[in-house]
Amino acid sequence: MSGFRTTKAHMLRDSKVYARQTLMGGLSGFESPIGLDRRDRIAALKTGDIGFVHSWDINTSVDGPGTRMTVFMSGCPLRCQYCQNPDTWKMRDGQPVYFDAMMKKIERYKDLFQATGGGITFSGGESMMQPAFVTRVFRATKEMGVHTCLDTSGFLGANYTDENIRDIDLCLLDVKSGDEETYRKVTGGALQPTIDFGKRLAAAGSKIWVRFVLVPGLTDSESNVENVANICEQFGDAVEHIDVLGFHQLGRPKWHELRIPYPLEDQKGPSAALKKRVHDQFEAHGFVVY
Ligand code: SF4
Repeated sequence: MSGFRTTKAHMLRDSKVYARQTLMGGLSGFESPIGLDRRDRIAALKTGDIGFVHSWDINTSVDGPGTRMTVFMSGCPLRCQYCQNPDTWKMRDGQPVYFDAMMKKIERYKDLFQATGGGITFSGGESMMQPAFVTRVFRATKEMGVHTCLDTSGFLGANYTDENIRDIDLCLLDVKSGDEETYRKVTGGALQPTIDFGKRLAAAGSKIWVRFVLVPGLTDSESNVENVANICEQFGDAVEHIDVLGFHQLGRPKWHELRIPYPLEDQKGPSAALKKRVHDQFEAHGFVVY
């Protein structure tokens, strides 16, 4: 995931106010298979019997429509300069959670999800690192009649079959840059898998909310934004809107805590004028922009 949900959400999430308002979270309420040895865990990961989870929460109108349960899976293959959650990078730092425990939790909130048009969102880290678990949960969730949403960079889209993709109602797709060189600079990875995954989502009838993190001097060039817009056009009507998320520094303490050199230490975030220019650029392509 981008690590950026919306500026407002992050401010809430990272504030004490949010901590008080959160109904539940962390890893409360999950049975964790603590007794499994390493080999059993790897086997269970392959079958999707367990997934490694960083945390979860219940939120409204943040990670998709309605009231949602967002599950932050651990592990990510990218290393975005602006990552807000470097503590999710290593899968082994997550807690193993049983598939059955996860489904029990979703079942518990089913009525709330259905009444609000909400559902479950997998985020991370990058939940596509654990395709067996996430696709199994999505399949079972769909069977329950509950909405599914995947928050992803799409970088590991090849891990999903077309059948898996049909279980994704909505994808919050991070298009982190429009040109290859900038994408690699921002993330350490390649851009093409995101484009390929977006096209497959569109072909499968999934809806897409594109997310683009605006960082002055890194992702803000007119040509880069233009290329992001051109990529989004390839997804056609699947794109419901584009979220332009202004960079902010709420993630900085985590980099410091983990003692990872933080490349955006002095980054101030975009000015109102820059945000407007980028909004206008996307709008000129006919997109709804937030
Ligand atoms: S490094 Fe991974 S978790 Fe962090 S913003 Fe990038 S894709 Fe998201």
